[in-house]
Amino acid sequence: MNDYLKNYLKLLKFVFPFKQFLILAALCMGVSTIFDGATLGMIVPLSDRVLTNKEIVIPGDLPQFLTSIVNKFNSLQPLVLLKFMVFFTIGLFFFKGLFHVFQSHLMNIVGQGVIREVRNQLYDKFHQLCMEFYGKKRTGELMSRVTNDVNLITNSLSYGLTDLIYQTMQVIFFTFIALYLGFKISWKLSLIAFIIFPAIMIPVTHIGKKIKKYTIQTQQKMADLNSLLAETIQGAYIVKAFCRENYESDRFKKINFQYYRFTLKSLKRLIIMSPLTEFIGACGAVTILWIVGREVIAGKISFGVFGLFLASLMSMIRPLKKLSNVHAINQRALAASARIYDILEEQPKVKERDNAKKIGNFGRQISFKDLSFAYNLDDGNVLKDIDLDVRKGEVIALVGHSGAGKSTLINLLLRFYDPQKGTISIDGTDIKDTTISSLRSLIAVVSQEMVLFNATVRDNIAYGKEGASEERIVEAARKGHALEFISDLPKGFDTVVGDRGFRLSGGQKQRIAIARAILKDAPILVFDEATSQLDSASEQLVKEAFYSLMEKKTVFVIAHRLSTVQRADRIIVLDEGRIVEEGTHAGLMARNSIYKRLYDLQFNA
Ligand code: ADP
Repeated sequence: MNDYLKNYLKLLKFVFPFKQFLILAALCMGVSTIFDGATLGMIVPLSDRVLTNKEIVIPGDLPQFLTSIVNKFNSLQPLVLLKFMVFFTIGLFFFKGLFHVFQSHLMNIVGQGVIREVRNQLYDKFHQLCMEFYGKKRTGELMSRVTNDVNLITNSLSYGLTDLIYQTMQVIFFTFIALYLGFKISWKLSLIAFIIFPAIMIPVTHIGKKIKKYTIQTQQKMADLNSLLAETIQGAYIVKAFCRENYESDRFKKINFQYYRFTLKSLKRLIIMSPLTEFIGACGAVTILWIVGREVIAGKISFGVFGLFLASLMSMIRPLKKLSNVHAINQRALAASARIYDILEEQPKVKERDNAKKIGNFGRQISFKDLSFAYNLDDGNVLKDIDLDVRKGEVIALVGHSGAGKSTLINLLLRFYDPQKGTISIDGTDIKDTTISSLRSLIAVVSQEMVLFNATVRDNIAYGKEGASEERIVEAARKGHALEFISDLPKGFDTVVGDRGFRLSGGQKQRIAIARAILKDAPILVFDEATSQLDSASEQLVKEAFYSLMEKKTVFVIAHRLSTVQRADRIIVLDEGRIVEEGTHAGLMARNSIYKRLYDLQFNA
């Protein structure tokens, strides 16, 4: 319970920004509850005066204002009173409806506001979290947090909370009326009424719990039965081959019998439940009738007052039932809220230091020092003892088998992950001491994987440079050898990529990515060579575009194939996370290097 309360309070935190609406809604519910009480109170004049033309008799010592209302009712002609009641009732229901509309609208503002707010928070959080987080979670799971789970908590915060406030008010209000009247009529009455109610509840909740327990057990047995069935049907071959039919049959019968037993147990309780509550309820009603009936016969109270007492007792049942539903709604919402908090409270591993400085420019050298890194410590290091200095203006080609760690090295340079050991520094400043955005603004990444969908060609090119002028976008496209094919597109720069089956080829995507990098004009360039095969014309265009991009830049080429490598100043060969060879194309080809073998393998193939 303690945990439940704690989690529920945490769930309610989502409502906090909307507290003013909640307070207004609660006020409206309070007014509605008073109207409910007034509607119920009409029983008295209706049955005592209008229908039977007798006097209303109330317990002697009620407050003055109630006594004067009753005296007024007693003095009026039944027909006049009827007229009054007709108008009063119409007014009552009109205002009750009006306040209900107010209250529902306010609660919808709260519920929908929470949806909006939590979705925004989740989405912002996704951007704050580092790549590692995306490695751990599946896309569908994350999407479900933003869509389904948020809806689930809204159910609880809109409908559940409405019921919690409104029905609690109703229970309190009617309990108050019943208790008060009961005491005024006879203290014994109150005592009995309030013993009977819990008395009904105790066996009912007890049996309810038992039923729930057996239901869970039957479900488990059903699951066992299903898996056994699946096992033996799929494994029919083995069962027959080993002559295990009797053994399997016995196993099945045993589980099937347990299922039967638990189901019967729960059914037995289910059939007891309804007559039991009815019987206890009837006992209570008869006792009340016995006590109050004698008071009515003795003329101490009128029939209408008795009716009011009974009606207020009855009026407590519905809100109590609804309140127990709130619990069920909350159970699902709490699970959803826990999953949402899991994400909202997740701390990104790659964090900007409080005193992180902006790094304005890249002047001399990038140094990887004694670098080791594992995505997952259990799986071992993906990069091992990397030492590498890259001077400004150098073109470095990273070469190696797939899985050697080339992309990982770049991921670390971009600070998508932090290394467990060693440092990466730019001009002597550890990249952990710089702000993440200033670091990333120094680096342009070109990859055919990085074309956005559902955005125009123009937006795709301008993605790294907000507010770039049209001229510069066109100029970048021209330099990236993309202008020609863009002009041939149905809407030119306004063509939406991925729209209505319109797809870019691998080479075209690559050239858009190059144009984007040209526009961004960052001093450090990462070129992720196309993994898919380009036709030779396309490859030539990409190459030319790339050569125009890399002028005066410090370049890392992730070479999946070895075509762009020959222009590199230095080739770094990675193998199982280590730098195993370094040199120029000519130098490495001259000796019996791993590089030479990779090269021969590719170009002789
Ligand atoms: P390359 O770029 O040389 O093909 P990578 O740097 O992509 O190699 O991968 C190096 C190793 O790290 C591989 O064994 C790969 O399976 C693993 N790896 C890559 N990305 C992740 C990730 N997000 N989570 C866990 N392991 C990864």
